[in-house]
Amino acid sequence: MQYQRSSQLFAQAEQVIPGGVNSPVRAFKGVGGTPIFVSKAKGAYLYDEDGNRLIDYINSWGPMLLGHAYEPVISAIKERADRGTSFGMPTELETQIAALAISMVPNIDKIRFVNSGTEACMSAIRLARGFTKRDKIIKFAGCYHGHSDSFLIQAGSGASTFGTPNSPGVTQGTAKDTLLAQYNNLQNVQQLLEANPNEVAAIIVEPVAGNMGCVPPLEGFLEGLRDLCTAHGTLLIFDEVMTGFRLAKGGVQERMQIAADIVCFGKVIGGGLPVGAFAARNEIMNYLAPVGPVYQAGTLSGNPLAMAAGYAMLQAINDDATLFERLDAKTAYLHEGMDQVLKASGIDYTINRLGSMISVHFDARPVIDFDSAKNGDNERFKKFFHGLLQEGVYIAPSAYETWFITDALTYEDLDFTIAAVAKVIKSL
Ligand code: PMP
Repeated sequence: MQYQRSSQLFAQAEQVIPGGVNSPVRAFKGVGGTPIFVSKAKGAYLYDEDGNRLIDYINSWGPMLLGHAYEPVISAIKERADRGTSFGMPTELETQIAALAISMVPNIDKIRFVNSGTEACMSAIRLARGFTKRDKIIKFAGCYHGHSDSFLIQAGSGASTFGTPNSPGVTQGTAKDTLLAQYNNLQNVQQLLEANPNEVAAIIVEPVAGNMGCVPPLEGFLEGLRDLCTAHGTLLIFDEVMTGFRLAKGGVQERMQIAADIVCFGKVIGGGLPVGAFAARNEIMNYLAPVGPVYQAGTLSGNPLAMAAGYAMLQAINDDATLFERLDAKTAYLHEGMDQVLKASGIDYTINRLGSMISVHFDARPVIDFDSAKNGDNERFKKFFHGLLQEGVYIAPSAYETWFITDALTYEDLDFTIAAVAKVIKSL
């Protein structure tokens, strides 16, 4: 496949946009080469500016659970656009989508809409701090919660007590309130809570991690976090930006039967428009302005285009009794197919999967946290990525991302993908 026009467009973009992209991972830094410029997308496929058709396993990094340009979402947007795009005043639609989301997700009484997953997580932390009157938070190495300052902290070696910023611009003052733990390591979390008595406002976690590849929680991990939070008066925040409305109607809380105190959403909840949300029981949500003292706001929050897209998306998910079974079955089929191919090749690999999230790591050891995710053979991943691209299969341009399976994928698409994996693996 040729990507000449994409390369030209990227060169032009680099002149006027830092790195040519509006979000860093799009720039192919991890895999080399130049990004693909998209012209349009429909169902399971992307169509690029060179006229190539690609099977899409990223799906806008998660939102397109039902495929690109899903008709009910597109017509809802068109219909609303004719009536004006933003008022900064309440609309009935906001109540409708809020009520629907609350009916689908366990343990939440109220929900506040924002414009991105970053905003959702940032606001959830402020709310947790205001509610508990504590400053510190615990996050896990390898989990991503958006780009607000408190979260851009990387683990030092082992169980470091205080985080150090991994982006210039994040102050030491902010970093010292973010404590780092290893994913799937309860003992580590317990030590941090005991070393900081009555100081930890919240533990924020991706209940199934998707930002170091797909890393599911080990048996007992989420239950253990729940118990530790309850024992220490710390709030448990599930960042369900990836997993919400994807792993079940009610996200991981429903799928694994564990109650969080605050839940963050993004991606699927906006049907492809910029939407995030955070939600909790009344006692916590009533701490938020204008009812309570914790401030949070947004000019475009709850705007009618975004709410129309999100509402159409959630309705489609809510009305479909077998959606999650289909998604799981398709992902399991892909898993099995790739497993056979990789096993036969003799290459070291691990495939992690939960529901419609799956990732391939080029290392034979179990991938359960950031350190084990980093063991993967990145050079092999780069070749794998570019090989698949040549075959017309688009996976994330980084070894640290999950693949997102959509309902628009057919079994023919999956067979095509497995055959492409077989061909590429042979050439590695
Ligand atoms: N939380 C998680 C788990 C995410 O995966 C992401 C984005 N990939 C975010 C938060 C941030 O969302 P956004 O990019 O919409 O700001």
